[in-house]
Amino acid sequence: MDIQSLLDDIAGSVTPHIGQGEVAGYIPELGAVSAGQFGISVATGDGEVFSSGDSDVPFSIQSISKVFALALVLAGDGDRIWKRVFREPSGNPFNSLVQLEHEDGIPRNPFINAGALVVTDRLLSIADNPHTAVRDLLRTESGNGSIGIDAVVAESEARNNNRNASLAHFLASCGNLDNPVEDVLDAYVSQCSLAMSCADLAVASSFLARNGLAADGSAVLSPAQTKRINAVMLTCGTYDAAGEFAYRVGLPGKSGVGGGIIAVVPNNCTICVWSPGLGRSGNSVAGVAALDEFTTRTGWSIF
Ligand code: GLN
Repeated sequence: MDIQSLLDDIAGSVTPHIGQGEVAGYIPELGAVSAGQFGISVATGDGEVFSSGDSDVPFSIQSISKVFALALVLAGDGDRIWKRVFREPSGNPFNSLVQLEHEDGIPRNPFINAGALVVTDRLLSIADNPHTAVRDLLRTESGNGSIGIDAVVAESEARNNNRNASLAHFLASCGNLDNPVEDVLDAYVSQCSLAMSCADLAVASSFLARNGLAADGSAVLSPAQTKRINAVMLTCGTYDAAGEFAYRVGLPGKSGVGGGIIAVVPNNCTICVWSPGLGRSGNSVAGVAALDEFTTRTGWSIF
């Protein structure tokens, strides 16, 4: 498999999709990002990285951070989190309020915003350095010690965070937050505002394709935990488009409203794509098209 030529081909063939959709204007600073960008990187299990397009441009990882927060909570605290958050697809937008009230403050899954707020709350309770735990995991797993928060995005998100504040207050009213709402929102915004490139994110995700093992052979997660995180990514990682994503791409994946998506080919490689234009459910239009083409041409899908 000539992965480099394949990625160059894909970067060419998705051109009509680049700029399609809408950038995430509800976070003003994300709305200012140029939509005409596209990057793709593949990190193989044996440590090679192949890239094409704008693969070295840092972008706001947004909800992709939810995978790493969940990994830290599962690693540190085992299955306890599953008493406070379900693991079923929501079929609703990622920031929806309605289901949470119907279901008594137990979010449908850890990848919608309500579920991620509960995971973040647990991380605040168990991590040694809760405000930097996700950043530190990403630094370690990518090998890039300069990864950090985009302060302008963080500020923009914090100033326009009424929806997440509503979710957090409702969770607190149901007794499903242990820490003060403001602390949880602050930590959540910090992890969403981390900036990374496709190349760094593909490498940082590699443990998900290696049964939980980091590049140096140490365990980030057990094989069983890795299986479960990948399963939740498949069923819930792209929100109310998870069925369509499974149909088109056929891999566990996690998107963010910065336009990034990570996808995992178990025992083989991880892929990160980025292009800021989002479809109706908040997933990168060109990113999904690129992943569709990648798995269709390679046959590297879990199906
Ligand atoms: N920070 C974003 C929000 O809370 C994350 C959403 C996303 O990437 N889907 O709205």
